[in-house]
Amino acid sequence: MRYRSTRGSKELLSAREAVLKGIAEDGGLFVPDTADFSAFDAEALMTLSTEEMAQRVFSFFLDDYEDIPGIVQRAYAGKFDDAEITPSVHVGDRTVLELFHGPTAAFKDVALSALPVLMSEARKQLGKQENILILTATSGDTGKAAMEGFRDVPGTGIIVFYPYGGVSPVQQLQMTTAGGRNVRAVAVRGNFDDTQTGVKKIFAALTEKLHTEENITLSSANSINIGRLVPQIVYYFKAYASLLQRGEIRYGDPVDFTVPTGNFGDILAGYYAKKMGLPVRKLILAANRNNVLKDFIRTGVYDKNRPFYRTNSPSMDILVSSNLERLLYDLSGQDTAFVKESMEALQKDGCYRIPAQMLEKLQQTFVSYDTDEEKTVETIREVYDVYGYLIDTHTAVAWNAASEAGKKEGSACPNVVLSTASAYKFPDAVCRALGIEESENALSALDDIHEKTGVKVPENLQNLDKRPVRFSDVIEIGEMPSYVKEVIQSGELYR
Ligand SMILES: *Cc1c(COP(=O)(O)O)cnc(C)c1O
Repeated sequence: MRYRSTRGSKELLSAREAVLKGIAEDGGLFVPDTADFSAFDAEALMTLSTEEMAQRVFSFFLDDYEDIPGIVQRAYAGKFDDAEITPSVHVGDRTVLELFHGPTAAFKDVALSALPVLMSEARKQLGKQENILILTATSGDTGKAAMEGFRDVPGTGIIVFYPYGGVSPVQQLQMTTAGGRNVRAVAVRGNFDDTQTGVKKIFAALTEKLHTEENITLSSANSINIGRLVPQIVYYFKAYASLLQRGEIRYGDPVDFTVPTGNFGDILAGYYAKKMGLPVRKLILAANRNNVLKDFIRTGVYDKNRPFYRTNSPSMDILVSSNLERLLYDLSGQDTAFVKESMEALQKDGCYRIPAQMLEKLQQTFVSYDTDEEKTVETIREVYDVYGYLIDTHTAVAWNAASEAGKKEGSACPNVVLSTASAYKFPDAVCRALGIEESENALSALDDIHEKTGVKVPENLQNLDKRPVRFSDVIEIGEMPSYVKEVIQSGELYR
């Protein structure tokens, strides 16, 4: 499989090269040729274990890697608290695909357990001598998941920047108490956008210099890397196989998937699975109040010129969904000039429109519904009251979208709702939903929820406040580059 840029530059990279590089020189994203997807044998996966399924999917996309079984083993062995890695459970007449059994209790673990292994293997197998330094701005979930993933991976180091006071107390403690010789987290006085801009500036200012002077390659762990996308394709097959095993469907029967969406990475993986032959009927895109994607799917106009809301499903608070670019590439018939133009219009005017024919194609697979914060809390309460099943805010947004879709599109086929985080990561909203009184200590809310529901607190969220805080630095935005240099100079990252 060869990877090229969505924006038309002539680069043609192998998977290992694309994983190491992350983003194309023209600013586009690396994409495989989806026409090749029909060669994949989807049905052959149905009797396999999750690890074996991952091996098949990885081998298909990452075909120049040596030792895929070893890579899958190192990515997942012992890291998830469920033997199936991404188990499905039956809730009412729906299936919930639980993606939160990893080391940080959010779905990003599935991809961020594999990406560091893919990066360090690419480096080793291509005979590169440089060390890799990952710089990541986070609004909460990605930071800790990336720190866990890169922890003590040889030849890699990671620095996570988070907005001071801009992440939840649970998320902050997850990062400041993280283990690993080669990881750092630092709070920045500014909001998430400032932090992200700061990281981009470091890339622009230091990439060359660090390469020549320190033998370090800068890279990023965010979801535009093809090495983050591929692992997410696997669980769509896994969920379908679970329905088969329970006798709910026969192979070939269509299934809907409902996906709580932010940067469009997770749902794009579902689209790829469908192109690979998995019998998917609709992909239901669940949005919160930042519903730019819902409007896009309904009208064909992407317009980010609108208010930005901080909601109780913060991992979906996003107005520019990077991975949508990969869908545009495919829907336009790989028209890179069109993609480039649209992305330039987005940059310049915050807005672009797709032609009617493309919109029609889009709507053949995608539908979308949005959910406000009040309804999100109500949904958590309802699902708990009716089924005794506890969901987080992001999953609640998806659950409600599935209900709306059922009313409007008919519920002729099974619906798999992707559950992207443990309810314990967002205790405020969950307490409100369950009628638990607010306590002044954010972490005692976890015990309160446990007492009320009996649902186990994920091990990695227990006793967070009793672990030693390793990273307590707070810096100004302007100090970010010098902070990076200091960490490098300490010589501790690559020992
Ligand atoms: C990142 C995230 C999402 C959104 O996934 P995308 O791939 O960015 O669309 C949804 N829920 C949770 C809990 C997340 O952390």
